[in-house]
Amino acid sequence: MERVNNQGITIDVSANTSDLEEKLRVIAKHATALADDLKKLDEEKCLECGSKEVEVTRAYGDNDRYEIAITCFNCGIGSHE
Ligand SMILES: [Zn+2]
Repeated sequence: MERVNNQGITIDVSANTSDLEEKLRVIAKHATALADDLKKLDEEKCLECGSKEVEVTRAYGDNDRYEIAITCFNCGIGSHE
């Protein structure tokens, strides 16, 4: 049993193959992408009323950092992070 821990996600893999390390790398890569997608889902809601009926605009800068602007269709309040 091998264990991959990446950004708080733990995956147990039961395998008995020579390319296990390669498989673990693939899993870690996808787990990271999944964590990023889940983080985006959390970002895409209104900070005022919690509605998910929002328009999200991201302005990307250096080093993969970005500013996020949210306009809520429910309460009409826009916010920035
Ligand atoms: Zn709102």
